[in-house]
Amino acid sequence: MGKIVTKFGGSSLSDAGQFRKVKAILDMDPRRAYVVPSAPGRRFDNDEKITDLLYRTYRLWREGEDYMQAFGPVCDRFLGIARELGLRVDIEARLADIRRALEAGQGEDYCASRGEYLNGLLLADYLGYDFLDPEAFVFFGPDGAFDSERTNDTLTALLSEHERAVIPGFYGVGADGRIRTFSRGGSDVTGAIVARAAYADLYENWTDVCGFLMADPHVVPDAKTIRNITYRELRELSYMGATVLHEDSVFPVHRAGIPTNIRNTNQPLERGTLISHGAVEEENPYVITGIAGRLGFSVISVEKAMMNSEHGFGRRVLQAVEECGLSFEHLPTGIDTMCVVLSTAELEPVRERLIKRIMSLTEPDTLTIYDDMGIIATVGRGMVHNPGTAARLFTALSRAHVNVRMIDQGSSELSILVGVDCADFQPAVRAIYREFVGE
Ligand code: ASP
Repeated sequence: MGKIVTKFGGSSLSDAGQFRKVKAILDMDPRRAYVVPSAPGRRFDNDEKITDLLYRTYRLWREGEDYMQAFGPVCDRFLGIARELGLRVDIEARLADIRRALEAGQGEDYCASRGEYLNGLLLADYLGYDFLDPEAFVFFGPDGAFDSERTNDTLTALLSEHERAVIPGFYGVGADGRIRTFSRGGSDVTGAIVARAAYADLYENWTDVCGFLMADPHVVPDAKTIRNITYRELRELSYMGATVLHEDSVFPVHRAGIPTNIRNTNQPLERGTLISHGAVEEENPYVITGIAGRLGFSVISVEKAMMNSEHGFGRRVLQAVEECGLSFEHLPTGIDTMCVVLSTAELEPVRERLIKRIMSLTEPDTLTIYDDMGIIATVGRGMVHNPGTAARLFTALSRAHVNVRMIDQGSSELSILVGVDCADFQPAVRAIYREFVGE
């Protein structure tokens, strides 16, 4: 029987009621063998996430203040869940261990990771699964980077001895033997690591939404859920700001050929979004898969007659960009113009220096900088064999009176990027959505 690795986010395990939902989900499919929990999240608006409280606990302790202001609510939450579910695990003793370790100088990562650790203990007890502490098998190297191969080998061997297990997310151990965490949201990464090590058929990431939406719901309130998406499309959308998953959680499963399914713990019958390699069982009903965008770009447009026949012109422009410590986002070029798209925030401190350097290296006819640009990526594998997609997109934009300032389409034809004024950003996203998906 193939195995499924399930990761449950903080809101999926925020209280005893959510624990019951998680158990019901696991009971629905016996292949769900390994479970990766986050720390308990918010139960209601203005509630505090356990991880945030733990970071605060550490800060208060370091500043010599009364850290129980923050650690007290952490204790209450875990004791409350244990009590309500009638669990046997001695959480009180574990909480006392944590206080002792904190006072003995265990660091910030240790403190922050205890939300996952304690939640894992509770969940393992509640489900009757083994508890595997990532301290023993999620390794970080001396440079602080995650050591994927050592972790994978150790974990694969370990999992072969455990039919069912709970493995807390978010942390592992550094080369110095101290606890280390991934960046925020890192339980997604642990889930992907476990899926790879377990040779899972599927990585299920259970959260509080029914998957990826086709557009940002703040801009398109009724945006539909994406049913199928490839890892490459996901990369394009996430790069442009769409987030549901931690970025680093994609790589381990993508490389191992394991699909990821984003599901909603509160609506377990919804199929969510399936992220796979390419061949998807069912095509999307629309030519495009999704739209994402970001504000805060500047375009430097360097124009020079006969630029296209001047050897090294592009290299010199990029040399200036590199010398100023910048990395460019896009590079649309015309016959006599070359544009470099950069983040405005990064450009700001070196703006004058960069202009001077480009001027001296390339002696252009004109150099213009446009600020306040938003870039919108319309992504879809369905666009590849669909003539007329670009025409539809630009007609929709012109009907919405949006002035397109930049166009960039990679040769993969997986996405079309358009740059628009900040003020046109939202109308543009809505116009594209309406054209390809409908009202
Ligand atoms: N609890 C950690 C955080 O809040 C990790 C996670 O939930 O994925 O960032």
